[in-house]
Amino acid sequence: MSGGGYAAQNGAGGSYTNGPSQNPVGVYSSNQGLMAPPLTGFMNSLTTKGPPPPGPNPYITGRHQPSPVAPPPSSWSGVAPPPSSYSQHPQPGVTPPPVAPPPSSYSQHPQPGVMPPPVAPPPSSYSQHPQPGVTPPPVAPPPSSYSQHPQPGVMPPPVAPPPSSYSQHPQPGVTPPPVAPPPSSYSQHPQPGVMPPPVAPPPSSWSGITQAPVAPPPSSWSGVTPTPVAPPPRSWSGVTSTPVAPPPVGNHTGPGPYSTGTRLPPVFQNTMQPPAALQQGLYQAQPGQMIRPPAYHSPSAPALYTQVQPSGSAAQLSPSLAAMSLQSQTPEALRVVNLLQERNILPSGAVTPPTPCLPQDLQKINCCPEVFRCTLTSIPQTQALLNKAKLPLGLLLHPFKDLSQLPVVTSSNIVRCRSCRTYINPFVTFVDARRWKCNLCHRVNDVPEEFMYNPVSRSYGAPHKRPEVQNATIEFIAPSEYMLRPPQPAVYLFVLDVSHNAVETGYLDVVCQSLLENLDSLPGDSRTKIGFITFDSTIHFYNLQEGLSQPQMLIVSDIDDVFLPSPDSLLVNLSECKELVQDLLTGLPQMFSSTMETQSGLGPALQAGFKLLSPTGGRISVFQTQLPTVGIGALKPREEPGQKAHAKEVQHLNPATDFYKKLALDCSGHHVAVDLFLLSAQYCDLSSLGCISRYSAGSVYYYPSYHRQRSPAQTERFQRDLKRYLTRKIGFEAVMRIRCTKGLSIHTFHGNFFVRSTDLLSLANVNPDAGFAVQMSIEENLLDLQAVSFQAALLYTSSKGERRIRVHTLCLPVVNSLSDIFAGADVQAITALLASMAVDRSVTASLGDARDALINAAIDSLSSYRSSVLSVQQPGLLAPACLRLLPLYILALLKHRAFRTSASTRLDERVFSMFQLKSQPLPFLMLTVHPGLYRADDLSDEGALNVSERTIPQPRALQLSVEKLSRDAAFLMDCGTVLYLWIGRNCNPVFLTQVLGVESYAAVPLNMDQLPELDTAESSRIRALIDWLRERRPFHPVLHVIRDESPLKAEFLQYLIEDLSESALSYYEFLLHLQQQICK
Ligand SMILES: [Zn+2]
Repeated sequence: MSGGGYAAQNGAGGSYTNGPSQNPVGVYSSNQGLMAPPLTGFMNSLTTKGPPPPGPNPYITGRHQPSPVAPPPSSWSGVAPPPSSYSQHPQPGVTPPPVAPPPSSYSQHPQPGVMPPPVAPPPSSYSQHPQPGVTPPPVAPPPSSYSQHPQPGVMPPPVAPPPSSYSQHPQPGVTPPPVAPPPSSYSQHPQPGVMPPPVAPPPSSWSGITQAPVAPPPSSWSGVTPTPVAPPPRSWSGVTSTPVAPPPVGNHTGPGPYSTGTRLPPVFQNTMQPPAALQQGLYQAQPGQMIRPPAYHSPSAPALYTQVQPSGSAAQLSPSLAAMSLQSQTPEALRVVNLLQERNILPSGAVTPPTPCLPQDLQKINCCPEVFRCTLTSIPQTQALLNKAKLPLGLLLHPFKDLSQLPVVTSSNIVRCRSCRTYINPFVTFVDARRWKCNLCHRVNDVPEEFMYNPVSRSYGAPHKRPEVQNATIEFIAPSEYMLRPPQPAVYLFVLDVSHNAVETGYLDVVCQSLLENLDSLPGDSRTKIGFITFDSTIHFYNLQEGLSQPQMLIVSDIDDVFLPSPDSLLVNLSECKELVQDLLTGLPQMFSSTMETQSGLGPALQAGFKLLSPTGGRISVFQTQLPTVGIGALKPREEPGQKAHAKEVQHLNPATDFYKKLALDCSGHHVAVDLFLLSAQYCDLSSLGCISRYSAGSVYYYPSYHRQRSPAQTERFQRDLKRYLTRKIGFEAVMRIRCTKGLSIHTFHGNFFVRSTDLLSLANVNPDAGFAVQMSIEENLLDLQAVSFQAALLYTSSKGERRIRVHTLCLPVVNSLSDIFAGADVQAITALLASMAVDRSVTASLGDARDALINAAIDSLSSYRSSVLSVQQPGLLAPACLRLLPLYILALLKHRAFRTSASTRLDERVFSMFQLKSQPLPFLMLTVHPGLYRADDLSDEGALNVSERTIPQPRALQLSVEKLSRDAAFLMDCGTVLYLWIGRNCNPVFLTQVLGVESYAAVPLNMDQLPELDTAESSRIRALIDWLRERRPFHPVLHVIRDESPLKAEFLQYLIEDLSESALSYYEFLLHLQQQICK
């Protein structure tokens, strides 16, 4: 590659050859904190410095603001109400379930659209139903001699398995429990001929409620012999379809649409052999008692597991963890890198998260880092140690991610810690065969009788082999005590801007067409409801009641006091009224094609939507194309043209009104989420409008230059995003609680939600594309602990009306040396958390403060490393290998649209970027921060991936510098939501003809946004690469083919963050600046 020509032309040159140069805009000049970096640590500097902002603040929900919304009844207030909440809040007419041995059926529910894994046929007990009229005998307790004195090596007598799926199936002739009365609005306005909304049918788990205790199986059970506590037959291990393997990182082999390479372990895999540490825990002896592990306890288990800890030890895991030697594990992570000398610091493949230093068998079942990861994979023992490291401590979550494998358990007794309500998980310890010790609060709990039976292996007496103890990610179908009311149906309301401006963009046709195409794919069941509102200066409702010959439009022109003109026929059952819905969608674009109405009453339209959905909960999808101008919530333009020229301090990052936040909180309190699609080239005050989605757990989509004719690439992106949006999984009336081991404390949340109580996030809707982050501190020393755990539990109602709980548990070691903390640092997670913290700082203090804090984060952590970890001082800017990308990522954030100070950043684009930083899952967030750059004209099959019989080239990632570009080549840049294919002026003509289908450089169209499907190897390779990049993410990146003369060239060049730019340092200059600060 010869970079000279292009570099010279751009005046930037090689970033390393420039040396220090003047800083035209004085990026750091006003940075007093920088000159004297605070030694209080970045956490403090971001969270405590600066005065509180005046007025409403869109970013402070994460900080435990008291809720104006009345808290829900207590049984809702936790992801998991304590058992007593059942009796405290009985549902009307519902008889509490008898305290009966719960069913314990276990099944695997493939996620929609995901290829189910090969699964062993379920045990026959699954399909067995009790015989009508047969009264089952009472439960025979297991022989007491077995349960009280389990003797290893002694074959217990065959024990009748505890009642299993029997109680799950309603018996014929048994009346299901009465359903809670429907919301009053239904019954108060009965209309002749109007079908009352369908009463939520009881979910399947309800059907068990009135069941009497059932038990030992009738004769049909006799065929099922419970497996005694004994070595499983060899053939038993054949149940496992896939051998356990650590999740591949960075390589995509899974069938998921964009799931990246790491996949959850197959459901049954862990039944092969429980982790040695857990086995050890299970058979841990009481003082004075020695229990031998069962015969199948792997004789090859490492010696470190054979040590028996005295019961009651603070750390049951200590034998295994004590043997871990961090020094021997981390030479590479702690390798000293002089950043000023080592130029090629990007790894050849994807940047992968560090692997926690846990015993291999624990790590093997640890939570997938794409779902749950921590900025520090080794947790400091004390806050003092954390302060010394000057690295942020926090968690990054993608809790509802689409998974190709998800074990699902149906149980009426979900086993949880009686003290802290933690769900039993792979990292608990069994102090003996009948008791388990919570890994969060350390309480010893009894193992319930029914948990002794394993529905997967159909064996008895091995609770450590239950799926709950074998999977760090698992989903439960919740019993009735997790419901305050019958699970809501899927309810979708579309609120559409039909002003002249909106119609002119042509978006309405796309939305209606996309809905028509995907109507049958909306997640839901026979109860699904749908409705439509359109608005300009008035609000239009649509009566879609069954029996009408065509939809009726009802116009409400009094937008100051919005009412629902026909409350019972505006939200209709989708399957019953589908034809009318289709008629409406077909006719809607034409109805407003000649409108001259320019006003926008978005606020009143949202109020109407809230009124319509508040009885049930559901999702409002709002499409808006301009600043709201009339009615409540009207806004004025706040973007000052002059501000763009010297934007050191950006104004108006705070909302102009609290109307949207307040309405969002009302929505959240009624389980209504609002998703905002903003399609506008004009300023729309996203910092105000976005509050409606932020606080109701919605999503924000932004298409800044949308026009159907003028920007076909945006139209394609909008269409693809809509399809994903309409058909992706959705969870309703959700709450998420994150727990962590005693001593750790969560103090700040990032993402779209409302904080209902200290650690409970209210999510009116949850979608699979939402990410969250939390910050933590160490309140009590973790001195006696070898490991700590984090558990996120997401309780939600599926679109099919099932109440479900998805639980993720992450286990991490505790360390007591700074070098171990640094060795476990996860540079991408740190960057993502810092980005969220900096967004908060921009809003509560100022953009300049946020930028200073980011720079200080790099200075502080590298200073700490230099002074406290390095034993031999040497010149240069030194970083441990695991953090060598930190200064680069920090610089990338400073040049990110959210935080940059350049003249060209529109306010809405900046605010949208801030929203994205706070709510995107980490892999997508990192792409927007540090794009991938690849040479595209010499792709080969060498090292390529094979995905579904396709060959995907894997070119090496290049540094983001013009120095890496070459005029005689072509380069692909992946910025997350946009891909650029840059064509050099002297690019090989073969590439031009075989990939672009043009004869010469001059013939490359200036606005080319897709590649022709040519029948050449070169064309296939690059299209395969682009398709693969696209399908791995939940949004559709547009492609721009650009050359020197293209209007988008400047945009492309802005992503070359290692180069000097108009307003920011080059990477090399930035490193020199850091070095200067660290060494002074
Ligand atoms: Zn506990």
